[in-house]
Amino acid sequence: MIELHAIERRYAMSGQTVRALDGVDLAIARGAFVALTGPSGSGKSTLLNVLGCLDRPDAGRYALDGVDVQALDDEASSELRNRRIGFVFQSFHLLPRLSVLENVLLPLRFARVPDPQAGARAMHLLERVGLQDRVDHRPGQLSGGQMQRAAIARALVLQPALLLADEPTGNLDSKSAADVLALIGEVHAGGQTVVLVTHDADVAGVAQRQIRLRDGKIEHDSAH
Ligand code: ADP
Ligand code: ADP
Repeated sequence: MIELHAIERRYAMSGQTVRALDGVDLAIARGAFVALTGPSGSGKSTLLNVLGCLDRPDAGRYALDGVDVQALDDEASSELRNRRIGFVFQSFHLLPRLSVLENVLLPLRFARVPDPQAGARAMHLLERVGLQDRVDHRPGQLSGGQMQRAAIARALVLQPALLLADEPTGNLDSKSAADVLALIGEVHAGGQTVVLVTHDADVAGVAQRQIRLRDGKIEHDSAH
C-alpha cells in the first residue's frame, strides 16, 4: 500500500541543515498496524506527515496505492489526503466552538455528502466510539479520552484506507489511553491500515510491527 524509497526531508536551521528524514526506505502492506518509535527529534512526526501528504519530501519516491504522490500538485494531493487518509493528533485538534457532532460532520460536509446520509454516518461513528450521549457537547466539556475518541470518529467518518495517529495517547491518563488504543486496535481489525507514532514502548507493543527511527534513519524494523 505504502512504498517509500530514499526519502529525504531537510530543514535549514540557522545555517545548519537538519536531516529530519535521511534516506528512508519502507514498505507497508495494506491492513498493517505499524508503530513508529524513536527518541524525540528522530523524525517520527516528519515521516507521519510525509505519509499523510501533509509534508513533501525533498527527495525520494512515495507511492500510495500505486499513486506517485510527489507527482501530484497541491490540489490533487489534498484530494488524495481527504479521500484516503484519516489523522489523529496528540492534542485532538477539535474545533472548540462546534459540538462533537458538528466536528464529526465536518469531513462529510467538505466531501459534499448529502445531509441525511451525513448525519446518519456521523452518529454511527459516534456510537462506535461510545460518545452517543455526548454529541451536543462542546469539546471543552469532554474528558481528554472522550475528546480523542471524538477525534477518532472524525478521522474515520470518510472510511479512510489509512489511519495515521501522532502520539494519540500522549495527553491521556492510562485508562483513557487504553480505551483509545483498544479503539485503534478495532480499526486495524476492521481492515484499515494504521500507522501510529509513539515514544512509549507499551503503546508500540500493541502494533504488529515496530519501526524505530534515529537521526532520520530507520534504525530497527521488527519485520526484518
Ligand atoms: P519526532 O517526531 O521524532 O520528535 P520530528 O519529525 O518532529 O521528530 O523532527 C525531526 C527533526 O526535524 C528534529 O531535529 C526537528 O527539530 C526537525 N524539525 C521538524 N520540523 C521542523 C520544522 N518545521 N522546522 C525546522 N526543523 C524541524
Ligand atoms: P500534535 O501532537 O497534535 O501534533 P503538537 O503540539 O505535539 O501537536 O505538535 C504539533 C507539531 O509541532 C508537530 O508536528 C511537532 O513536530 C511540532 N512541535 C511540537 N513541539 C515542538 C517544539 N517544542 N518545537 C518545535 N516543533 C514542535
